Amino acid sequence: MSTLADVLAQTTRAGSLYNCLPDGRLRCYACGHCCPLPDGAIGVCKVRFNQNGELRVPRGYVGGVQCAPIEKKPFFHAHPGAQAYSFGMLGCDLHCGYCQNWVTSQALRDPQAVAPPIAASPEGLVADALRLGARVIVSTYNEPLITSEWAVDVFKAAKAAGLTTGYVSNGNGTPEVLEFLRPWVDLYKVDLKSFDDRHYRQLGGRIEPILWTIRRLHELGIWLEIVTLLIPGFNNSDDEIERLTAFLAGVSPDIPWHVTAFHKDYRMNDPENTTPEMLIRATDIGTRNGLRYVYAGNLPGRVGDLEHTRCHHCHALLVERYGYFIQQYRLTSDGGCPDCGTSIPGRWGAGFDGQITSTPFLPGTRRLRMA
Ligand code: SF4
Repeated sequence: MSTLADVLAQTTRAGSLYNCLPDGRLRCYACGHCCPLPDGAIGVCKVRFNQNGELRVPRGYVGGVQCAPIEKKPFFHAHPGAQAYSFGMLGCDLHCGYCQNWVTSQALRDPQAVAPPIAASPEGLVADALRLGARVIVSTYNEPLITSEWAVDVFKAAKAAGLTTGYVSNGNGTPEVLEFLRPWVDLYKVDLKSFDDRHYRQLGGRIEPILWTIRRLHELGIWLEIVTLLIPGFNNSDDEIERLTAFLAGVSPDIPWHVTAFHKDYRMNDPENTTPEMLIRATDIGTRNGLRYVYAGNLPGRVGDLEHTRCHHCHALLVERYGYFIQQYRLTSDGGCPDCGTSIPGRWGAGFDGQITSTPFLPGTRRLRMA
C-alpha cells in the first residue's frame, strides 16, 4: 500500500521558489526555513523535495474545500458578508500542538491525521467557487506558503474570473515568496502566535521571519489582518501581549487585531480554555497601545462590544456582529463612517449584500488513489 507521501509525490510540478547552491544543493524559499536540500531530500514541510536537481512542489489536488462567510477566516475589514471559498492542500512548516486544522496540516507527520487528497484543477476550483456565489477565494487549512506555486495557479484563474484572493497563513515568509505572491494576493491574514522566540521554536519556527513578513505585507499594500489565539499559560502574559501589540501598532494602528479563544484541541490539552475575561484583558492592552481595531473572537455574545467595528474617530457603531454573523452594517459606499465621514481602513464593497451562512459543498473532483 502506498503511503500518503508516495501519493503526494506523484502530484507535483517543478517549483519556482528555489535556486541552486554552489555545492549542488537546492535552496527553497517558499517559507522562512529556507531549507538547503541535497538530491533526494525533502523539506521540513514534507511536501517539497529535490529530485535530480529540480525542486518538485505540490500541484493538482486539495485536502479540503468549504464555502463560508469571510468573517470566519477571520477578515472583518474586507468585503463583509461575502462568501469566501476556502481550499487547502496538505502539510505545514510548523507543528503547533493546538492546531485546529491538524487533520490537513499534520497529515504528513501524524498517522492519525487522515486527509486523503482530492484531485482538482485551478479552473475546476474557480468554477465551483463561482457556482456557490463566492466573491473571494482563500488558500488556507494547510500552510499556504509551502504550496504557493499551486495557490498562484488557482489565483490566476480566480482573478481572470473577477474573484478577490486571500491567504490565511502563519506568516513564515521570505522576500522571494512575497514578491512571487504580490501580483496575485489581495488579502492576507497572519496568525501571530506569540511574541517570544522560544515559543516559536517550540512550534518549529522562529519569530523573526514572521515579524519581517508582517512589516513587508503592510509595505506592499496587501490588506492585512492579524490573529492571535490566546492560550492560557503559553502566550497570554501581560508582558507578551504588551510587546506584541506595541509591535503591531508600530507597523500600523490600522491593522485589525483579532484575539481569539483557545479550546482544547489536538495535542495541546493541558491549558485551560480561554475565558472572556482573558480576551478582554488582552484587547485592553492592544487598545492602550494604539491599535484602533481590536476584536475578541470565538466566544460569541460573551465579549461585550468587542465583536463590533466602531469608527476609530467618533466611535459610532459601523458593523455589529454576533460571532461571524453581521447584524447591522452602516458603512458608506466608499468605506466611510456615516456619522463623521472618517475613512475606515479596509477593502469595502459598495454595500452589504447580506450573508449566506450555510452553503453545502460537493466537490466535483475525485479522490487520488492510495493503493
Ligand atoms: S517550504 Fe519551507 S519547509 Fe518546505 S522545503 Fe521550502 S523552505 Fe523547507
